[in-house]
Amino acid sequence: MTDHNSDPDKIVPPWSAEQVAGLNGYQRSGVFHPYTCGDASCRADLVATRDGWRCPHCSYRQTWAHAFSVDGWKEIENIQVGPAQEESR
Ligand SMILES: [Zn+2]
Repeated sequence: MTDHNSDPDKIVPPWSAEQVAGLNGYQRSGVFHPYTCGDASCRADLVATRDGWRCPHCSYRQTWAHAFSVDGWKEIENIQVGPAQEESR
């Protein structure tokens, strides 16, 4: 069954601190292609926040992620991820 309107594999903000940490860990893991800016002239790696993805270089935002990107990826490669580095500015 495929229902694109209510995809259970996608998560939307607001995200918990744990989800944000998991998503940013995924971005840094290098195991899979990271989420990137949707602006063709930018393409920077997105940064997860409580309100969704934010591009560090432009105003692009994205408000969904694959649930797999929070912690599912850790199990596949059994990666040890250090303490979460939340943006503290
Ligand atoms: Zn951008």
